[in-house]
Amino acid sequence: MSASTPSLVPNSTALFARAQQLMPGGVNSPVRAFRSVGGAPFFVKAARGATLLTADDRVLIDFVCTWGPAIHGHNHPVIKKAIAAALESGTSFGTPNPYEVEMAELIVRFVPSIKKVRLCNSGTEATMSAIRLARGFTKRDKIIKFSGCYHGHSDSLLIKAGSGALTHGHPDSAGIPASFAQETIVLPYNDRAALDAAFAANPEKIACVIIEPYCGNVGFIMPDPGYLAYLREITAKHGTVLIFDEVMTGFRIAKGGVQERENITPDLTCLGKIIGGGLPVGAFGGRADIMDHLAPLGPVYQAGTLSGNPLAMAAGIAGLKLLEEQNPYVRLDALGQRLRDAVLAAARNKGLPVHVPQCGSMFSIFFTDTPVRDYATALKSDAKIFAKFFHLCLEKGVYLAPSAYEAGFLSTAHDGPAIDRACDVLTESLHSL
Ligand code: PMP
Repeated sequence: MSASTPSLVPNSTALFARAQQLMPGGVNSPVRAFRSVGGAPFFVKAARGATLLTADDRVLIDFVCTWGPAIHGHNHPVIKKAIAAALESGTSFGTPNPYEVEMAELIVRFVPSIKKVRLCNSGTEATMSAIRLARGFTKRDKIIKFSGCYHGHSDSLLIKAGSGALTHGHPDSAGIPASFAQETIVLPYNDRAALDAAFAANPEKIACVIIEPYCGNVGFIMPDPGYLAYLREITAKHGTVLIFDEVMTGFRIAKGGVQERENITPDLTCLGKIIGGGLPVGAFGGRADIMDHLAPLGPVYQAGTLSGNPLAMAAGIAGLKLLEEQNPYVRLDALGQRLRDAVLAAARNKGLPVHVPQCGSMFSIFFTDTPVRDYATALKSDAKIFAKFFHLCLEKGVYLAPSAYEAGFLSTAHDGPAIDRACDVLTESLHSL
């Protein structure tokens, strides 16, 4: 019997039955439905530190961290207090508010490539608007993205792999006109020749290149040495706007994101997740000359009823200040390395091929003997073995992302007993495969 066997999780089972009557698939975001690992999702009624408390009173060590935002662990007292204090003054004003200014100051200080910033409500809004801005600024239509990189669910970006490097994209989702998809060129990540060919075939047509500088949406993949620098060079040469989508990696890989760690200056950066401290938020920013093309100064329209929401700002500001005070990145990397080493050692003992890319508090476990450096090699990971491993871990109280192709996240709250227990569970689960 598994941890999602209905008789063992009566409350989650009952909630899911009600949810499925009311919401498509019973969820408000598809990956929550456990389609790729099988079984039914559990419901969570509370979360604290490194753990989730399920509707059936199971305590799980959580490596999803609400898909990235919870770098300080769940329900951090300082963030909670900041939200409570902001709540005293109201939930939304529809006018500029002082929190927005403080948030913008923090973002600009943490991420020096950002000279001006626009706050919005999700990562999807940030990337969608950054692309519109790049198109408005360059007066060009085509964009380049990379297969396996996820930038939210807007039409131009929900396009993954064309079969060849230069084929036009085809939509990943029904409902996206083929004519939209034709403006999106999809290239393999980590492939310089494909970039050269795309620029050569589309002279003065490419508005922007958008990339997850470290990919976190096809599992966790890092760039080959020099690849991001090459991307910077070729985009600058062609007058193409380089957009780093650091919605996941911003404030997580380093205080200033991947761009700080790799010493690359993109033109625009998209942010989300951590800057909301667990409340809905997004942001994009960068060169002032580009950002000033946004309404009300310029011709590119972008707006939001709840943008700069005081509660989300208060939560995010508290979270960013904690990062500044604690500078937890060395500590987070040590936790990530412990986890990686435990998995590698257990897999070696078992004679199972695995690759565990890890940087700081991001990691993934690929069941493959091929080094993973792009979408195609990520897909070689054995999703069936992963699903079995996922359920073994869940039974023993460790929650990994419910897909073979998602990154895992650590928080500062995983330090101590949580990481000890998690390493034991991962080791035992690998052993039982
Ligand atoms: N960009 C990246 C790199 C992401 O990982 C995500 C979400 N996981 C998004 C954009 C979209 O963000 P949201 O879900 O807040 O719309």
